[in-house]
Amino acid sequence: MKKYIVGIDIGGTSCKIGLFNLSGTLLKKWDIHTNKEENGKYILNDIYDSIHHQIPDLNEIYGYGFGVPGPVVKSIVVRCVNLGWKEYDLVSIFSNLTNNNNVQVQNDANVAALGETIFGAGIGFKNSAMITLGTGIGGGIVIDGKIVDGAHGAAGELGHLSVIKGNGHLCNCGKHGCLETVASATGIKNLFNDLDQKSNVDSLLTDREHISAKMIIEAAKKGDLLALEVVESFTYYVGYACSILSITSNPAIIIIGGGVSRAGSFIIDKIDKYFREFIFIPVKDTKIVLAKLGNEAGIYGAASLVKYNG
Ligand code: ZN
Repeated sequence: MKKYIVGIDIGGTSCKIGLFNLSGTLLKKWDIHTNKEENGKYILNDIYDSIHHQIPDLNEIYGYGFGVPGPVVKSIVVRCVNLGWKEYDLVSIFSNLTNNNNVQVQNDANVAALGETIFGAGIGFKNSAMITLGTGIGGGIVIDGKIVDGAHGAAGELGHLSVIKGNGHLCNCGKHGCLETVASATGIKNLFNDLDQKSNVDSLLTDREHISAKMIIEAAKKGDLLALEVVESFTYYVGYACSILSITSNPAIIIIGGGVSRAGSFIIDKIDKYFREFIFIPVKDTKIVLAKLGNEAGIYGAASLVKYNG
């Protein structure tokens, strides 16, 4: 008898695996190390072994959903630079391993957006979008309860929205001045260093070598003027990105997640303030909210991908 759905969130360091019942309740979760050797050829086998160890009878599993750190088009993983995968047919490989035809895959930021929409901050809304402010910036759009991936798997990739004209910092994508270069954890450090060089404002953050985005935000909360300037600046850019989301896919809510969002309402209120400066009046009821599921959004969303007629 089918009892379980498995949601798997593959990351560059670890793979998060969640075991759900057919009602979508998380029963158990665990992590395994991501072995990237030989272009990531061991990753799926390791995941299979780990699940099989937990559930000896794989016939009890209804389906498997995956979130992966790269673009996915028509269920083919186009590339995952972090993992060494290129044109990778995860669905066929894992279906063969498990003898289960219900294997689904999507980009991890999209999957997190789906997880938050169905099980987290977006409960009750069918149209949402999410921006994840972490080491990089991910984005995802959900319309009528379904992920929008677009012609090239790049729908909602707000991290690569150009926000700085001219000599912005180099982004991981090869462009300069993307949102990721000013509003990810690295981007926030970039802003601090840039402002520190230009400004005469003193800062309590004197150990410039070991500074982190978290330290900058904490200092801003305590009233540090330079850190506050940085926070105003990066939330301005995120607010601008939200305004673009609001008139392209018109979500009811825009969910802000990722490590940077742990600063809570201090950050969200500022993003909302700038968002409202750019807003088109018919979308004024769009809400900016904080993500709720933390790093479990990926496994929830991955499990939600599984085709289920229950
Ligand atoms: Zn970029």
